[in-house]
Amino acid sequence: MSVKRREFLHALGAFALLPASARSRSQTNARPRFSSDPFTLGVASGYPVPSGFVIWTRLAPVPDEADGGMPPEDVPVHWEVASDEAMRNPAASGVELATGEWVHSVHVEVEGLKPDHFYWYRFRAGDALSRVGRARTAPSPDSEVGRLRFAFASCQHYEQGYFGAYRHMIRDDLDLIVFLGDYIYDTSYGGRRVRSHNAGKANTLSDYRKRHALYKRDADLQAAHAAYTWILTWDDHEVENDYAGDHSYTREPRELTLARRAAAYKAYYEHQPLRRSMRPVGPDALIYTSLEYGRLARFHVLDTRQYRTPQPCQRWGHGGGNYLVDCAERTSPTATMLGAEQERWLAGVLASSRSRWNVLAQQTMVAQLDLSTGPTQSFWTDDWDGYPEPRRRLLECLRELRASNPVFIGGDAHMYWVSELQLDPDSAGSPVVACDFTGTSITSRPLMQSWLLPELLSENRHIKFGDCEHHGYVRVEIDSSRLSADLRVTDRIDTPNVTCSTLASFVVEDGTPCPIRI
Ligand code: FE
Ligand code: CA
Repeated sequence: MSVKRREFLHALGAFALLPASARSRSQTNARPRFSSDPFTLGVASGYPVPSGFVIWTRLAPVPDEADGGMPPEDVPVHWEVASDEAMRNPAASGVELATGEWVHSVHVEVEGLKPDHFYWYRFRAGDALSRVGRARTAPSPDSEVGRLRFAFASCQHYEQGYFGAYRHMIRDDLDLIVFLGDYIYDTSYGGRRVRSHNAGKANTLSDYRKRHALYKRDADLQAAHAAYTWILTWDDHEVENDYAGDHSYTREPRELTLARRAAAYKAYYEHQPLRRSMRPVGPDALIYTSLEYGRLARFHVLDTRQYRTPQPCQRWGHGGGNYLVDCAERTSPTATMLGAEQERWLAGVLASSRSRWNVLAQQTMVAQLDLSTGPTQSFWTDDWDGYPEPRRRLLECLRELRASNPVFIGGDAHMYWVSELQLDPDSAGSPVVACDFTGTSITSRPLMQSWLLPELLSENRHIKFGDCEHHGYVRVEIDSSRLSADLRVTDRIDTPNVTCSTLASFVVEDGTPCPIRI
């Protein structure tokens, strides 16, 4: 923030602090006074475990400034969790220091709560009180949970539409929301914009902070965070289009990509209800994790961006994904999507999973999508089609471990795809190992035209359903005998006031990996 701007804000009284003499030497301002609401970005909860969850907020009285209009001092933020919405029956409370280094974000890992219960929470800084959010703990590990309901979503370009889909998720009586990437977009693209980033491409920490704060000010998104506990992973646009590990699609020097990653990961952490262990250290952040829902389900939340090898067979001078007729490099055995460490970790948690349903929550379409009719094959290389060997290894691993009911969920495509995952997608008799639900976008524009669909579906027999016209989210209900998925679609995105309907519904029966349309 420029000095002038800061003086201007002081003059406006956007925040007012006690004189410096009253502050302690540790630069902590224990009694901040705000003359405008510091909780402009709302509250959020995340990563439920049986004994608690993460709660988050950030102090930002002037949210369109990178520092939120806050001075650099540390500010104590009081938090409380109650077993009732009116906050009369306290269950836990404490104080967390919001620091300038982390742009006055607050992440509390609340513990000591009862499993499988709703709780309510809020924050206080000085005299300012946040809204009340609702969160839910996970069931205890050995409990026989009757039912789990969640929605999964991805790809919410702010300029391309309003987030009205969340209004319908709020009415859906869910246990949680799973977000699979492209929470923000680093850049603008396409026409027909309903609102603006008011900024160019994000490159610096300050840019990414402003972008996250802009998205977080969307009222429907805030309401969905306040209503449900979220599990999140990121895809490329939280950093930059099509980045792969330390490679950028612009082929910028590696040090620049790592610096960009460090900035983007830091801003992401500062704006999401992530665990402390997920806090980035420079350009590295360990966000893949596994969460249990009693004996019923287990979420394996993957990171397919940070550790992957570059997309194969790139055009000269170009990084990133590419549409191409098959090339030898595509099937390289040294390619990786998860990185060796995450791959080993995943095999370990799958082997130890005692849950009936294993939900693999990741970013992109897993099923092969051959884009050419006839014997020629062509593929888009930024999703798993650019990494067929890592895909085969993962499916082989699921088969060898006899993982119970593996179901992939993903996004990125801005289209609906429902598929069977065969060990070898090119041989008709190859066993089906898992099913794959690719969800459409909240708002981001589809990348394909409808007239192509019939041909693609007849070329790719393992794909049971496709749609490239709608936006929305997938609503999933799991019980011991089946998983049901409703592909929800909104009627428009040029207003937040939308109606929502079910385009198609699928069930996956316990013990059979094939999705059946109902
Ligand atoms: Fe996207
Ligand atoms: Ca073909």
